[in-house]
Amino acid sequence: MNFTHELLKWYAQNGRDLPWRATKDPYAIWLSEVILQQTRIAQGHSYWERFMQQWPQVNDLAAATEDEVLRAWQGLGYYSRARNLHTAAKQIAELGHFPTTYNEIIKLKGVGEYTAAAIASIAYNEAVAVVDGNVYRVLARYFGIDTPIDTTEGKKTFRAMAQAHLSTTEPAAYNQAIMDFGAIQCTPKSPDCSACPLVETCFAYQNHKIDLLPTKSKKIKQRERKFQYVYIRCNNHIAIRRRGAGDIWQGLWEFPTTDALSVPLASLHLLQSNAKHVLTHQIIYADFYLYETATRPTLSSDFIWIEESEIDKYALPRLMEIMLKHLEKYH
Ligand code: SF4
Repeated sequence: MNFTHELLKWYAQNGRDLPWRATKDPYAIWLSEVILQQTRIAQGHSYWERFMQQWPQVNDLAAATEDEVLRAWQGLGYYSRARNLHTAAKQIAELGHFPTTYNEIIKLKGVGEYTAAAIASIAYNEAVAVVDGNVYRVLARYFGIDTPIDTTEGKKTFRAMAQAHLSTTEPAAYNQAIMDFGAIQCTPKSPDCSACPLVETCFAYQNHKIDLLPTKSKKIKQRERKFQYVYIRCNNHIAIRRRGAGDIWQGLWEFPTTDALSVPLASLHLLQSNAKHVLTHQIIYADFYLYETATRPTLSSDFIWIEESEIDKYALPRLMEIMLKHLEKYH
């Protein structure tokens, strides 16, 4: 059985019909790839459409302000992706054209091997294989490779394998095929082996190792943090501040935390305690409070007071949106 051939055949029948697949515009493809990292297609779809509508060309995105970009990104999380996207758009605008080869594309800010390979192969038909979580899984299971995927050796092995099985005549279709196959057929938890065209020659299936492949050498350590946020309402105004560099949510806006406020906890109204919010490397437990007051409390100078109704104009981390939901529920 020829792995590549079967995969392409599967893709022709089962590939997902997505709007960014109907184009060879590298900007549209790049945008879809960046949005879809860590985001489900159903959710990413509407964001992609909105971005394409708001900024149809890369120069339009380059001319936007960072605030506008973060605002449009709101709800997708991982805001460094949005900031990098914006910086790279400016790089491209300066260059005068979208770079046309893998080696040039990878020089763009925030563009790693995976995204560069996806753009180069899909937009320009360059024969370079993509390697992402889906690809690791499909290759590890089908060929029975137990080298941990989070090691240098593992990365090298899988990259070489992906490249070796790439269809050099149809690199765009092959790359999309293996990613779709991983996302639809050979899924992490319950792959649909009974309907899989590769089942007879699949190492993991034949050796009962589906749950054991791919392997990882270590688990990501997640740091736990505790935050106590206060929604301070004073004559229809609220206090927010922009988060600085060097921590999560850089450039986004947040409400004050209790330590920014010299008011006893007893005078605050608890909206929700211990709301759990999971980020890639951190687990946050947050308490949300409401503080209604007729006089503005003293806050450090990085806080600004805005009209309560204006909050929609500020890019907020997901946790602040959750806080607003609790506030709404309370009202
Ligand atoms: S048989 Fe199952 S484990 Fe093997 S490639 Fe197909 S879906 Fe994946």
